[in-house]
Amino acid sequence: MGAARRDGSEYDVIVVGSGFAGANLAYDLARAGNSVLVVEAGPGLPKSREDYIENFWLNTFKSPSSPYPPDDNASLSLAGAAAMVNAGRATVQDVVVTTDPAMSRDERNARTYLTYDTDTEPDYMSSPFASTWERVAGGTGNHWMGTCLRMADADFRLHDRHGVGKNWPSAITAAAMAPYYARAEARIGVSADAGEQRDHTDAWFPDDYEYPMPALDKSLVDRALAAAVNGKALTADNTEGARVSGTPAGRNSRPYAGRRACHGNTNCTPLCPIQAKYDPTVTLALALDTGKVRFMEKTVVDRVNIGASGKVSSIHYKQYEDISVPASTGVTNEGTLGTEDTIYVLAANAIENAKLLLMSPWKDRTAANSSGQVGRNLMDHPMFLAWGLGPMDGEPLYGYRGPISTAGIENLRDGAFRSGRAAWRMEIGNEGWNWPTGDPFTSTSDFIDGANASGINPSEERYLGSRLLAKVNAVLTRQFRIGFLVEQLPDPDNRILLSTRYQDNLGIPRPQVRYRLDDYSGKGFESAREAAGTVMDNMGIAAETRFFGVGNEDMQRFTYNGVTYNYQGSGHLCGTHAMGNDAAVSVVDANQKSWDHDNLYLVGCGSHVTVGTQNPTLTLMALAARTADAILARRS
Ligand SMILES: Cc1cc2nc3c(=O)[nH]c(=O)nc-3n(C[C@H](O)[C@H](O)[C@H](O)COP(=O)(O)OP(=O)(O)OC[C@H]3O[C@@H](n4cnc5c(N)ncnc54)[C@H](O)[C@@H]3O)c2cc1C
Ligand code: SF4
Repeated sequence: MGAARRDGSEYDVIVVGSGFAGANLAYDLARAGNSVLVVEAGPGLPKSREDYIENFWLNTFKSPSSPYPPDDNASLSLAGAAAMVNAGRATVQDVVVTTDPAMSRDERNARTYLTYDTDTEPDYMSSPFASTWERVAGGTGNHWMGTCLRMADADFRLHDRHGVGKNWPSAITAAAMAPYYARAEARIGVSADAGEQRDHTDAWFPDDYEYPMPALDKSLVDRALAAAVNGKALTADNTEGARVSGTPAGRNSRPYAGRRACHGNTNCTPLCPIQAKYDPTVTLALALDTGKVRFMEKTVVDRVNIGASGKVSSIHYKQYEDISVPASTGVTNEGTLGTEDTIYVLAANAIENAKLLLMSPWKDRTAANSSGQVGRNLMDHPMFLAWGLGPMDGEPLYGYRGPISTAGIENLRDGAFRSGRAAWRMEIGNEGWNWPTGDPFTSTSDFIDGANASGINPSEERYLGSRLLAKVNAVLTRQFRIGFLVEQLPDPDNRILLSTRYQDNLGIPRPQVRYRLDDYSGKGFESAREAAGTVMDNMGIAAETRFFGVGNEDMQRFTYNGVTYNYQGSGHLCGTHAMGNDAAVSVVDANQKSWDHDNLYLVGCGSHVTVGTQNPTLTLMALAARTADAILARRS
C-alpha cells in the first residue's frame, strides 16, 4: 500500500484495457481533445521490443504467449501456478494442462487461469476452450496473425437469411459498416486488392474503394493449391468451384505509417520483430503522444460501481508490482477511479469484460446484466487442421517463406447449406507443419533419432550426414497445412462464470468456462474434413502423408456422428456481451452502450452477435470507431 491516490475525476473517459479496442478508442477520443485514462492490467510497453524477442528465444516451449510476461511455462511446471500470478491469462501451455489425462480436474484447475466445472456443476462436462489471450500493454494483438477480413450481410443477418442463429442490430449492415471498416483498415494498414476481395468474397465495398496498400504476393504454397483446386467443388453440398484468394493482411506490403515493409520470414505469431505487422502498441504510442492520455500499468480493475442513479459511479482497481510467477508481491495499492460524470469503456476482451461485470453487484443481478446475458453466448472459431506432404516426385511447395498465411478460400463461406451446417473459411498456412507438429523441429528430430512423432518416419529409420540433409530438404519443402475456421452459433449455455473455488494472487476470482460444440458446428467439421480430403486428392497427396485433426485422445476434442474431431482455438473470443435491438435479450446497443448504464460502453468482440467465419478483429476495430463517434457526439 501507499502509492499516491488519485480519483480519476480529472478524466473525461476511463478506458479499461489497451488492446485493439482500448488503444484505438483512447486515441480517437484524445485526438478530439478529451482527456483519457487507460487502465491496463498487465505491464506497460517494454523499453525495447528486443526484451520480447529475447523472451521468445529463451523459452523452450514456443507458443503465441512465449515472448510476453509472465513466463508461460509455469502452468506446466508449478502445481497451483495460476493462484500465484497477479494478472493471469490463458496460454497454449494451459490448454495442454487442461487436456492432460494424467491429472485430476482439480490439479488441472489449480494450474490454469481458465477453470472448468465447479462442485456446483459437477455433471456439466465442458469441452476445453482452446483459445488464449494476453494481459500486457497492447493486449492479445501483440501476437495476432494479422488477417483482416470484412463481415458480409449474410453474417450480420444470419437468422433472416438462413433461419439459424441471430441477427445483428438493424443499424449494422455491410454498407453502413463500410466507412468504419475503411477507417479500421487505414489505422491498421491493410494490404489487399479490393477488386479481388469484391470478386472472391461476399464482403461489400464501395465501387471506388482501394485498400491502403497493394496486396502481398501469394506464396508458392498458395499458388500450388490454387492450381490444384481452383474451379473444383470441395464438398457434395456445395457445387460452387473453389477460388483461392489473397487474404487482406494487417501488415505492410510497402513502408506505411513509419513502419517497414514485411520481410516475409513467417514469425508473425507470436511477434513481428520489425513491426511490419500492425499491433495495438503502435496506436497506444500515438495516443500517449497526444499528451491527453495517461496510462496506468499493472492495475487490475475488479469492480464497476453503480450509483443510485443507475450510472457507473467509479471503478475499483488493485495494483501490484511483480508480474512474474510465482509473484513476490500481492496487492500493493487499491482504490477507485472516476465519478458519475465520467464515461467508462470496458475494453478488456470478451472473457475479462464478462468476468469484470459479473464481479460487480447491481440490484438483484450484476452490472449491465438486466438481460441476464452477460457472459453467455461465448463463441470462437474452432479450427480444424489438416496437413500433408506434396508428392516426393513432384515440385517442392517451399513453405516456411512469407507471412504465416497469405491466402485462403473465401468464396464457399455462404450458401443454402448454412441452414443446416456451420460455414467455414479455409486458411492456407505458409509455415509448413509448425502448427500441427511443431516442425521443423519434430520431423528433423525424428530423422536424427529414429522416431516418428511427426508421423512421417513410420519405419523409425535413423538418417546421418548427407542422407539426413537430403531427407530433411525433401520433406520440409513439401509440407503444407490448411485450417478451417468453423462457425459457431450463439448458445446461452456456452458461457463465462466466476470460479467459486479458484482465485488469482490478488484474490480475484478466475474465470470458469462452460463450452460445447453443437451439431451445427459438428456438421461443419464433417464438411471441413470432406473438403480437406478433396484438396489432398487434387494435390496428389498419398494417403500415408495426409493427416487430419481427428481422433487424438490427448487433445481438445469433441465427437460428432461417431467421429472424434480435434480442434484448435483461433483466439477469437466473441459474444459475451452481445449487441442487439432489444434490451431484454442483449447487453449493449448498436453503439456498444450498455442498455442499463448510460455512461458505460462495452467494446470488443464480446459485442459480436454471431461470428460468421471471418477473423473478427477488423470488425471489432470498425465497431470501436463507431463507438468513438457516438461518444464524441454526446460530448460535443
Ligand atoms: C494466436 C492468435 C492469433 C490471432 N490472429 C488473429 C487474426 O489474424 N485476425 C483477427 O482478426 N484476430 C486474430 N486474433 C484475435 C485477436 O487477437 C483479438 O480479437 C483481439 O486481440 C481482441 O482485442 P481486444 O482489444 O478486444 O482484447 P485484448 O487484445 O485481449 O486486450 C484486452 C486488454 O485489456 C487488459 N485487461 C484485461 N483485463 C483487465 C482488467 N481487469 N483491468 C484492466 N485491464 C485489463 C489486457 O491486459 C489487455 O491489454 C488472434 C488471437 C490469437 C490468440
Ligand atoms: S512475415 Fe516476418 S516481417 Fe512479415 S509480418 Fe510476419 S513476422 Fe513481420
